[in-house]
Amino acid sequence: MKISRRGVLKITGFGLLALTALPRMAFAARNSLRSLRTGVQPGGKTRLVIETATRPSYSLSYPTNQLIVTLSNTAANTGISPKLAAGTLVKSLAQVQSGDTLQIIVNLNRSISALQKSQIMILEPNGDNDYRLVLDFVAGVPGATSSGVTTATTQSPKKTTAPAKKYVIVVDAGHGGKDPGCIGKGGTREKDIVLSVARKLKTQLDANGFQTHLTRAGDTYLKLAERAAIAEKKKADLFISLHANANPSRAMKGFSIYTLSEKASDEEAKKLAEAENAADKIGVEGFTEFEENIRIALSSLQQHAVAEMSEEYATAAARAFKNKSITQQPGPDVRHAPFAVLRSTVPGALLELGHLSNSAEEKLLKTSAHQDKLVAAIVKSVKNYNFDV
Ligand SMILES: [Zn+2]
Repeated sequence: MKISRRGVLKITGFGLLALTALPRMAFAARNSLRSLRTGVQPGGKTRLVIETATRPSYSLSYPTNQLIVTLSNTAANTGISPKLAAGTLVKSLAQVQSGDTLQIIVNLNRSISALQKSQIMILEPNGDNDYRLVLDFVAGVPGATSSGVTTATTQSPKKTTAPAKKYVIVVDAGHGGKDPGCIGKGGTREKDIVLSVARKLKTQLDANGFQTHLTRAGDTYLKLAERAAIAEKKKADLFISLHANANPSRAMKGFSIYTLSEKASDEEAKKLAEAENAADKIGVEGFTEFEENIRIALSSLQQHAVAEMSEEYATAAARAFKNKSITQQPGPDVRHAPFAVLRSTVPGALLELGHLSNSAEEKLLKTSAHQDKLVAAIVKSVKNYNFDV
């Protein structure tokens, strides 16, 4: 298991705290609360995020106009102030400690129905966050009063005749034109492999009811910011950047999946982001202006929301690849690094499909059968991704 330097500091820090505080405390909780925040998700849904130092163990209850999240073996954190976004169901949040149990009392504008499994996620730590228990629930009807029993959740809000929304996917074939990407020993160029996979992927995604756009349909050079800007312009629901990898060790093989984080999850991820970001050095100026605009456009709450949705997709993608028995590079399912191409308001991930530096995998990546297998895994991951939360 790889633990980031930040993770090690946190574990050490908590260990010391528990040790010194132990004689005066009636209990020593294993877990502790790090932060509380809410946000609005597409479709007007309310998202509650409970960040904890270790993996949370929880139960939920639904008293009138409340949601109560009970965290076992968890210490309260009175030093934090919850970040509440406007336009959610949540009025206020309170922490109640009793013994080693912490209850998060979520005061709501109205009662909600019991959450389904698909509305609850536990996300692994990434470069910027600890463990997160993420709960999504349907927002109240605008203008609804608190009087009477609300039955809106039991009725279908959509007419059966309404056409289903087509989700927009932007598929980005990395590199292109004067930038070949990495080149295998047999002369296979990354830009050709990923373009071939991207085209097949568009055909399959379109056939599955998605509206798919390619950042490049031919052998053209595009700056990283231009790729991210296409995702913005198309108002994409998901952005998938396709790459193939090279490693100084020719024995290294397998796919790996990345999301954006300001801090890299490990040294290898950091080096990879530097290599992929170097694509822009071939062109003229960088992307500082675009990046600056994105930073202004996104509040920190939105950044968290985009990061969480990206993490969710990347996790689904890793699962789909493994289910198709595609070789995985040793390491965690999802890694994080500051990839310039992922810097946008669109959730997404960068998929390294395999290693061109490994001669067996180079041969494999060139075959239509293996490309079809990769495409099938990605289509599955997109279909499994919950666009509505
Ligand atoms: Zn690449």
